[in-house]
Amino acid sequence: MVKQIYPRVEINLQYLKENVAAVVEKCKPFGIDIAGVIKGTTGIPECAKMFAEGGAKLIASSRLEQIEDAIDCGIDLPMLLLRVPMLSELPEVVRLCDVSLNSEVSVLKALNEEAAKQNKMHKVILMADLGDLREGFWDKDEMVDVAVMVENELKNLELGGVGTNLGCYGSIEATADKLDELVAIAERIEGKIGRQLEYISGGATTSLPRIINHDMPKRINLLRVGEGILLARDLDVFYGYDMSWMHQDTYTLKAEVIEVKDKPSHPVGKISIDAFGHTPEYVDRGIRKRALLGIGKVDYGSIDEIFPKDKGVEVIGASSDHTILDIEDAERDLKPGDIVSFGINYASIVYLTNCKNVQIVFV
Ligand SMILES: *Cc1c(COP(=O)(O)O)cnc(C)c1O
Repeated sequence: MVKQIYPRVEINLQYLKENVAAVVEKCKPFGIDIAGVIKGTTGIPECAKMFAEGGAKLIASSRLEQIEDAIDCGIDLPMLLLRVPMLSELPEVVRLCDVSLNSEVSVLKALNEEAAKQNKMHKVILMADLGDLREGFWDKDEMVDVAVMVENELKNLELGGVGTNLGCYGSIEATADKLDELVAIAERIEGKIGRQLEYISGGATTSLPRIINHDMPKRINLLRVGEGILLARDLDVFYGYDMSWMHQDTYTLKAEVIEVKDKPSHPVGKISIDAFGHTPEYVDRGIRKRALLGIGKVDYGSIDEIFPKDKGVEVIGASSDHTILDIEDAERDLKPGDIVSFGINYASIVYLTNCKNVQIVFV
């Protein structure tokens, strides 16, 4: 097997653990538990362990193979499947997960049968779509009816509660009003089944502002947090929240310089299309010093999602396997073999940690 040192993502596991603990502590006074969402970091077991050690009450992912890895590395917290299950994966859902999010009656019935077959009780959280328009019941009367059916008829399923997801497709904010709607649905269900639900799960990282602003509806008791722990960037960059109480440099991308030359900034010849079929705008800034890195879009997705740490270094373009930097104004004198560091965000961490030729190094 080829042994490469770069590109690499360095992960500070101590920072990760402290970030988990910080969010857990922040939510505790509100009676809210944290499900630690490991999919953003591709379920890397060393990272999953930090979620457990930092105080998460459940480990959560959208992908079963990551949940299996978390179990195999010895984490003994309940496992939560985030993506509403495919019919074709139900045997594995029951085998690996203690809890799953659900939104389809036919799937719930099949899940019940599979749980019976494996002689297990499986817990389900029914998802309400409150306007973000990804998963969840749109018709809330139907949702209440299905909850009652799960409670009374599906003997191998336990109705664990209700949940919602906001801000992923429809960009809808997790306002206190939206989460009040979820609590109202929960209380309708509780009225019909005559007991309190265990979980009212009021969303993901995008619900943390309700904690920060102290306007989280009282009965919300579970958040499923990934980005806000791994990177803690989005609430800062997109919503202007002060996240200085979190480590925002837990993940660092490092790539190696493979060429440094003075070149024109505007391509020379007849312009057609680039490696991805587009024709970007090329600004003519005259002859500039540029560096080429041994990393490309295959590894991180888009150049807009990686952020050079060096002052005066600008990412100006990339193809599959190359990244081009303008280093004319760089404070450092770069040469082949030098290493350039980047901060990353959610859109790049998911690619980088999934990419088999990007080394994962724990620091
Ligand atoms: C991905 C996901 C989360 C976690 O989202 P973050 O923004 O990373 O906190 C929570 N719930 C569901 C259903 C998800 O798919």
